[in-house]
Amino acid sequence: MLEIKSLNYNVGALQPIMSAETLHFHHDKHYAGYVAKANELVPAKWANKTLEQLVHLARDKGEIALFNQVAQVWNHEFFFEGLSLNLEDHEIPENLLSYIRKDYNSIDNLKDELVRTALARFGSGWVWLVWEDNHLKVQSTLNAETPCGLKGFKPLWTLDVWEHAYYLDYQNKRLDYATEVVNNAINWRVIGARLGL
Ligand code: FE
Repeated sequence: MLEIKSLNYNVGALQPIMSAETLHFHHDKHYAGYVAKANELVPAKWANKTLEQLVHLARDKGEIALFNQVAQVWNHEFFFEGLSLNLEDHEIPENLLSYIRKDYNSIDNLKDELVRTALARFGSGWVWLVWEDNHLKVQSTLNAETPCGLKGFKPLWTLDVWEHAYYLDYQNKRLDYATEVVNNAINWRVIGARLGL
């Protein structure tokens, strides 16, 4: 049985980048809805599996309806954990900074790549910063697809580019949403921790 994971911050903590109203609907309605639907679909034989195991099993066995729900649960928890407006979370760990300079020359180039990728994603999906073959890479996935559990990938950060993530605050302006979040709300401390730094 999957449980709804509370946010690590209060619902207004990301204002003005993300309004309390957006975060309320996003966490308490959309994300919670994926958890409820996933629980309806998980077969009894998998009742004791972890969320990661369910993503892996559903993908492996071609259980697409279940995969879409559990992957969205995982993606959303990963997304919410990666956001912060606290200044101490904006300090980029030294080793991470050197990886960024090696692969993207500068932090601004990496941020541009994240925003460009958000804009280029046709339809709903996710933008990812991942660690692959000892390099940082930016990529995107469609709908619920996720790098969770894929061999060789360590997901480090994600941006939700489904319209429900930004429509209340930015309407159709995905560029503005992505630009604001990427420049002001990335939790770099969490990314460092995910890299084991
Ligand atoms: Fe979402």
